[in-house]
Amino acid sequence: MLSKLAPMTAPVQNHRMPPKLRQMISELIGTPSISSVSPEFDSSNLAVCNLLASWLEDLDFRIDVRSVPGTHDKFNLIATRGDGPGGLVLAGHTDTVPFDEGKWQTDPFGAKERDQRIYGLGSADMKSFFALAIEAVRACLDRDPRQPLTLLATADEESSMSGARALAESGRLPGAYAVIGEPTGLRPVRAHKGITMDAVRLTGKAAHSSNPATGVNAIDGMHRVIASLIALRQQLAQRFHDERFDVPAPTLNLGHIQGGDNPNRVCAMCELHFDLRLLPGMHIDSSRREIQAAVTDSLVDTGLEIEFETLFEGVEALEVPENSKLLKACTRHTGKTPQVVGFATEAPFLAGMGLDTVVIGPGDIAQAHRPDEYLPLSAIAPTLHLLQTLIGQFCLEAA
Ligand SMILES: [Zn+2]
Repeated sequence: MLSKLAPMTAPVQNHRMPPKLRQMISELIGTPSISSVSPEFDSSNLAVCNLLASWLEDLDFRIDVRSVPGTHDKFNLIATRGDGPGGLVLAGHTDTVPFDEGKWQTDPFGAKERDQRIYGLGSADMKSFFALAIEAVRACLDRDPRQPLTLLATADEESSMSGARALAESGRLPGAYAVIGEPTGLRPVRAHKGITMDAVRLTGKAAHSSNPATGVNAIDGMHRVIASLIALRQQLAQRFHDERFDVPAPTLNLGHIQGGDNPNRVCAMCELHFDLRLLPGMHIDSSRREIQAAVTDSLVDTGLEIEFETLFEGVEALEVPENSKLLKACTRHTGKTPQVVGFATEAPFLAGMGLDTVVIGPGDIAQAHRPDEYLPLSAIAPTLHLLQTLIGQFCLEAA
């Protein structure tokens, strides 16, 4: 269950202030918070939440750190300043991917500055965004919020998206608009594909290969499953098409297969893993039902037992509505036309909660998830300008 930890207490008299921007970026990068589906790499994100909480507390935010159900030591941070029905959420994920040991030229946790860049794991994706958001807030402190300003920091975006999922399941988030500061080169994102990952497992009956009729061969069955999935992939490509994407069709990739042991035995067990990348207009539940129906139909009268397993529950595709006030504001204030991207984000979870949500942030996605990830120093000023303008428009001036 969600538990409320460390609620913020009365306003502090002698105000402490968060450290300088560069120091905040260094401390965030220097605080490991790797999330991974491989337990040997996975770690808690609580230390990052606590850092952010201490700085935001100094800025009179109410702090709510919630453990994420079904995880080990993972937390979402929701920090809010002001009240009201509208307002802006500045959102991001606290976690990073694992790093390639020995492939970095600098310490991944060192936040070293060189060649007008800050190097470090999460420098672009996306710890610096939190520091920039806090810095932007600091510049607006002399004005009272008319609508709430919320900083949301989630867990496990890089692995299971369990943080955003738990938040969406819990219901409400203060705010009507949300910026997700993923690295987009400060160009707003208006659409991305969704993704699911599933497994199908067939159980038959082992037998001596000299008399196949005495067994039920799971590999033979999987041959039918594969044919049905490839046929479905082609149907989907005919039904859904979106020229804005580099790959304009939905894709269904067969990524892993395993089964059997010996050439002279009828194979009793075979398992296939695949993903589906959904275009806007497709939905996870109906797509999953369609896949399961196609697989089930292909195995009629085979005597095989079929099991489906969800490997990754999924993220819906994102389509920011044409009339999005936030998208218009981001486009106007950056002078950059909205783009369509290939990576999935937490935006569909916030959009699903009714928030007008746009993905826009400093740094380049090409730098993310690779050695020597960096944030160019030149991204700092325009990001602060954008965030201050948005805070002004959606929290300070909105009636
Ligand atoms: Zn990210």
